[in-house]
Amino acid sequence: MPSATNADLFAAAHAVIPGGVDSPVRAFGSVGGTPAFITSAHGARVTDAEGREYVDLVGSWGPALLGHAHSEVVAAVQAAAARGLSFGAPTAAETELAEAVRRRVPPVERLRLVSTGTEATMTAVRLARGATGRDLVVKFAGCYHGHSDGLLSAAGSGVATGGLPGSAGVPEAVAAQTLVLPYNDVDALEACFAARGEEIAAVITEPAPANMGVVPPAPGFNVAIRRVTAEHGALMIADEVLSGFRVGPAGFWGLEAVDGWEAEVVDPGARTQPSPSWPGGPDGNDANWRERAAWVPDLFTFGKVIGGGIPLAAVGGRADVMELLAPLGPVYQAGTLSGNPLATAAGLATLALADDGVYSTVAHRAREIGAIVGAALEDEGVPHRVQYSGSLFSIMFGPAAAAEGVRDYDAARAQETWRFAPFFHAFLDAGVALPPSVFEAWFVSAAHGDAEVERIAAAAPAAARAAAS
Ligand code: PLP
Repeated sequence: MPSATNADLFAAAHAVIPGGVDSPVRAFGSVGGTPAFITSAHGARVTDAEGREYVDLVGSWGPALLGHAHSEVVAAVQAAAARGLSFGAPTAAETELAEAVRRRVPPVERLRLVSTGTEATMTAVRLARGATGRDLVVKFAGCYHGHSDGLLSAAGSGVATGGLPGSAGVPEAVAAQTLVLPYNDVDALEACFAARGEEIAAVITEPAPANMGVVPPAPGFNVAIRRVTAEHGALMIADEVLSGFRVGPAGFWGLEAVDGWEAEVVDPGARTQPSPSWPGGPDGNDANWRERAAWVPDLFTFGKVIGGGIPLAAVGGRADVMELLAPLGPVYQAGTLSGNPLATAAGLATLALADDGVYSTVAHRAREIGAIVGAALEDEGVPHRVQYSGSLFSIMFGPAAAAEGVRDYDAARAQETWRFAPFFHAFLDAGVALPPSVFEAWFVSAAHGDAEVERIAAAAPAAARAAAS
């Protein structure tokens, strides 16, 4: 028998950890109830302290592309651990990982490893300011780029879940350096640059936003960002912390810019996806990627999948910009645990395993699960829309979302969010763990098989009924 319930553990946590959690969305604030305290995770399943097993659609918020605790990744980490936990000195594995990223995403001419996505985006912004000598940064409402001071304005993810405009503790003078624009609005982008273009260092964007729910970029929106930034001498930062190495071997950049993926405005669920390619090729020998790519950002940020479940993230891109980083250049950045040997081992093993088969399985399962849940909601007359960007998806509720789709943060917040909590809990009661917020993407892994899909299909009708009431 388990010795402590989830409720016992949550109460104990509250006494020593603010809110009982180390990251706000884990507290179930917007859905209510007690979070499951996880004791183990294997494949597509997680088990909690009470011994209950769930089909997991959280995937540790993205890293678990292969499923949890893939035996080859675990073996690589164990082997690395036996050689030492941290050296604070360069290792060959860091170079190997940077090379592996460049083979997949050839615009990443140089890469620096850090430990979190927050550090990666913070460094990308500092680099853009250092490269341009300008201070302002443009971000889009509903996009989340981690929790550094300047990037919290109108941020998605947990900031959206908590219904917050930003964060206390951010000086006004710092917040004023960030201009926030509506997503998918080329006119607003052009107007902003027409007014203040000479002061803007960079536009940072999630090329496929997934932190206000999944909001696909309108066809041509990423191209427009590239065009407008280039016209005004500003940098484009593609934050692929979430989408990188998840929606395809070269992330969303590979899928959209190279393979021509387009959001289908009317019925995103019906669209057949192109199979994602490797612009650099697994051998790095496609010299034509620059001609094939519809847009190429100056900088990318990566996280989540690149560390295979261990803290690791990266910033990379144009050599001339990246070489502004210390020790070569004047832009400072550092990290005690940057390039940690356990994390690089997990990242290398994960990328080595993430082949075409993995990406097509994840894409197929995501469509299948989205369609099953969508059909159950349809049967109950719940107005909704399943929105996809490649294998990322989430469900938007309400008649406006159903009729027009959700294309920006205002529309995401205007949906019938109240339907989500009962929907979520019905799934949880049936042993299916969704991300505990309507503003988060659902994460599918290559380990989601027929048995998991059947569990989801069996749970969906009751969840749809709960959402209907
Ligand atoms: N950027 C994006 C697009 C993210 O989704 C996240 C986290 O969810 C981050 C940055 C921040 O990454 P981390 O939580 O590792 O700091």
